[in-house]
Amino acid sequence: MISTKYTIREQNETNILNTVITEKEISRAEIAQYTGLNKASVSAITKKLLEDELIFETRVGDASNTGGRKPILLTFNRKSSLVIAFDLGYNYIEALLAFIDGTVVETVSKRRIQVQASTILSEMEQIIDRFMEVQPVTPHGIVGLTAGIHGIVDHESILFTPYYDLDKSDFLEGLQQKYDFPVFIHNEANLAALGEYTFTSRYQSLVSVSIHSGIGAGIVESGRLQIGKHGRAGEIGHSILYPSGRACPCGNHGCLEQYASNRVTYEEFRALKGLDYVNSEILLQYVEKNDKDALAAIKKNAELLSIGINNIIMMYDPDVVVINSSLYRRIPQMVDLVNEQLKSRFSKQVVIRNTFLEDKATLYGAFAVSAQNFLNIQKLKLN
Ligand SMILES: [Zn+2]
Repeated sequence: MISTKYTIREQNETNILNTVITEKEISRAEIAQYTGLNKASVSAITKKLLEDELIFETRVGDASNTGGRKPILLTFNRKSSLVIAFDLGYNYIEALLAFIDGTVVETVSKRRIQVQASTILSEMEQIIDRFMEVQPVTPHGIVGLTAGIHGIVDHESILFTPYYDLDKSDFLEGLQQKYDFPVFIHNEANLAALGEYTFTSRYQSLVSVSIHSGIGAGIVESGRLQIGKHGRAGEIGHSILYPSGRACPCGNHGCLEQYASNRVTYEEFRALKGLDYVNSEILLQYVEKNDKDALAAIKKNAELLSIGINNIIMMYDPDVVVINSSLYRRIPQMVDLVNEQLKSRFSKQVVIRNTFLEDKATLYGAFAVSAQNFLNIQKLKLN
């Protein structure tokens, strides 16, 4: 294996590597044209990238119309290295091992479990050790691991987790001591935004709204997560909808997530209909039967959520807002209902859509953090 140093690569090297990734197949002359670097620099840097096995020569291209030699085309080595990603929910663990281009090698999914501080390190080590056993041979091996946390994360520390006690765990230090690749943690809604940015969007400015028990937004600008000073940027679930409304555990009254979270919508519909249990599947069954109460419930949810989305658009001016919610995935007409509510001239130019990553946006965002770090490309796009 080539020894991998996690140093900052030269800016020119980053530009050239990113150009090769974006263009799929490209000659040295075209790289010089696209990056504005001279041919000697391009030649020296591509030589280094070839030695590092981050790119390879793929085939002879067509001669340019000015005549001359046929160029050799360069392409990104999609199998140069591997990345591990985790999504740590309060009752599940999702993990994946993927090549540096996002192609999945192996996944592990544990559902209906209790994720807790006392066991999380050993659970993660088991999964990582399995990945290390099955990993294909690559020049650089595993180059990073990132875990999504359902709570507030400030750089390397977990500040607050409402649904489990991972804020009392030192698993991050444990992993950093045991393995020689870099290990990172981030908030799950932030990672979902980065996953969409990297894999599903051509835009530079994107907001992803994650709706589960609470509501949180991830904000990405040119490949960089905007987390604020304390990691709390985008906590729109705690923006106030009704000043003297329902009490929220955060200390405010009338927070958006006390009205527009999936949990609240299910609970209100359950109580109204006298049902034992409601989830997105059950609500969908009622919607499909054109049940008046169900149609009113999804309309109300969309109307309230659209207020939160309107506020986000006013604050961050994104190109696109992506909705990550099992309810909106199962009942996509709710996205249309949100769009109908967004009447301001500002929001008309913003694309509002469902996620294209199913329930894997956080996992792909975790992948993207490690891939950005290893390749040293902040605006990395792999779609
Ligand atoms: Zn609140």
